[in-house]
Amino acid sequence: MYNLNGKVALVTGAGRGIGRAIALRLAREGAAVGVADIIEANAVAVAGEINKDIGRAMAMRVDVTDESQVEQMVTQTVNQLGRLDILVANAGIIQVSYLLDHELEDWNKLMAVNVTGVWLCCKYAAKPMIGQGPGGKIIIAASGAAKIASPRPHGAYTVSKHAVLGLTRSLAHELAKHKINVNAYCPGIVDTPMWEKIDREAGAMAGLKPGELKAQTVSTVPWGRIETPEDVANLVAFLASSESDYMTGQGININGGTVMH
Ligand code: NAD
Repeated sequence: MYNLNGKVALVTGAGRGIGRAIALRLAREGAAVGVADIIEANAVAVAGEINKDIGRAMAMRVDVTDESQVEQMVTQTVNQLGRLDILVANAGIIQVSYLLDHELEDWNKLMAVNVTGVWLCCKYAAKPMIGQGPGGKIIIAASGAAKIASPRPHGAYTVSKHAVLGLTRSLAHELAKHKINVNAYCPGIVDTPMWEKIDREAGAMAGLKPGELKAQTVSTVPWGRIETPEDVANLVAFLASSESDYMTGQGININGGTVMH
């Protein structure tokens, strides 16, 4: 267990999947948590779970592609929870298409959420961290797709995740003087609605029945099982803690061995 008592965390895309598991885990470690998602009802439900049994949380509706909403989310967190120590820029989307068939409008939307949205959250969250004095943790959702390209038809997603690893490394340089760590987590095949979509849409393109693409892909995982959102939250809890204080600019794999560099 890591001691995050007295810390305040803000998690985007926290209404379900990996973000939900991270919000619950950081709350269990003692942090007060801003639970932000574009689907307000899901954010409210997760904050409710935390407030009922675990600790303290506040739900917020945010579209991370909207600069004024991101600024407002950070302001609200600081005003209501008192400070900001940990940002988990987790919100992300996937689209299933080959690059040569990708529509420009879809491409722009994917980049807006997965790259611009992450950068905006980092930009506004860093301000109160810097103002509070030394220290802070910025933790970014990357992916195995940040390090390798897959034969599956989600090339634009792969481009976006390579980009956030560049953001992680550049921002780590900029914020080191403030002792703010900037790291990314790179999961593998995680059992969330995102993989349901890949299975359904990419599976259909390959002529597979529902569940078949996921089962085939999981059968290649050296660890022998699908990844859970809690597997990812285990790493994020470490990255949010003082145990990772000398680690910055890294894209850390948490993937059962699917990518080993
Ligand atoms: P998910 O689709 O289950 O959840 C994503 C959450 O982000 C949802 O609650 C959604 O409402 C929210 N969201 C989407 N667009 C938003 C926006 N514009 N503003 C605010 N919130 C928004 O996905 P997940 O599997 O939990 O993935 C979480 C992160 O982990 C993503 O960045 C994803 O790319 C990354 N990731 C997932 C996997 C996987 O196998 N599932 C693997 C590697 C990386």
